[in-house]
Amino acid sequence: VPELPEVETILRTLAPLVEGRSVVGVDVRCAVLRRPLTTDFAETLAGRTVVRLSRRAKYLLFALDDRRALIAHLGMSGRLLLLSAAEPLDLGKHDHVVIHLDDGARVVFNDPRRFGLLMIDDPETSPLLRGIGPEPFDAGRFDCDYLERWRRKTKRTVKDVLMDQHVVAGLGNIYVNEILFVAGIRPRRSFARLTRAELHLLVDATRQILTEAIEHRGSSISDFLDGIGRRGGYQWRRRVYDRAGEPCVRCHTAIKSVVVGQRSSFYCPNCQR
Ligand SMILES: [Zn+2]
Repeated sequence: VPELPEVETILRTLAPLVEGRSVVGVDVRCAVLRRPLTTDFAETLAGRTVVRLSRRAKYLLFALDDRRALIAHLGMSGRLLLLSAAEPLDLGKHDHVVIHLDDGARVVFNDPRRFGLLMIDDPETSPLLRGIGPEPFDAGRFDCDYLERWRRKTKRTVKDVLMDQHVVAGLGNIYVNEILFVAGIRPRRSFARLTRAELHLLVDATRQILTEAIEHRGSSISDFLDGIGRRGGYQWRRRVYDRAGEPCVRCHTAIKSVVVGQRSSFYCPNCQR
């Protein structure tokens, strides 16, 4: 499931290839995604120029020249792949939308499980983006004081709190497990009982893990590919995620697995308290 580093990787791959290009045509082959594409999707997008790519949480925003944006979410299994003019367009049954650009390249939205989403909307007012918590790299908003305010009003585990997009944007199961390892905190700990020092460790660990994951261009543990079909590299650097029974990278104790909020969690019983 793509998280912040994977979406950021796609953004950085696609931005130089897509920014400034105009859309000359859109083929909607299957409109039934998490939400059905609006019937005017293709005609609204055709003729527009992609001004800039950006990211908010796990959403990729293609800002258009009419102040709106193509807002894309990859859901569980979505991919956005750019094929240059020279590459053959060999479409399969999970290639739901094809966006043709003025240099002959095509951006293909592929999504076997169809939990992904494409929508054209004003990002300033879009309900999709409302209520999302701060970006983890926003040092002015995501800090100890901010987490302390959540600490006062939640009874949930630290794992559940970090997974909540209202608390902080873009984290999912892989990176929350990794962050908790670096912070030395077990996933089932009560968020309300964390110390100020532990909140500080969480903020630092979040930025450290995400920076590293972006540098390694995301995780291809199952099927993630960047915007032009390359695999990520963070999976080779994983500390705990999906490593149950394997030795801890720091102390060689066997990594444990436990279910928190219906998701598998992984931790080192020696390094994490
Ligand atoms: Zn350990």
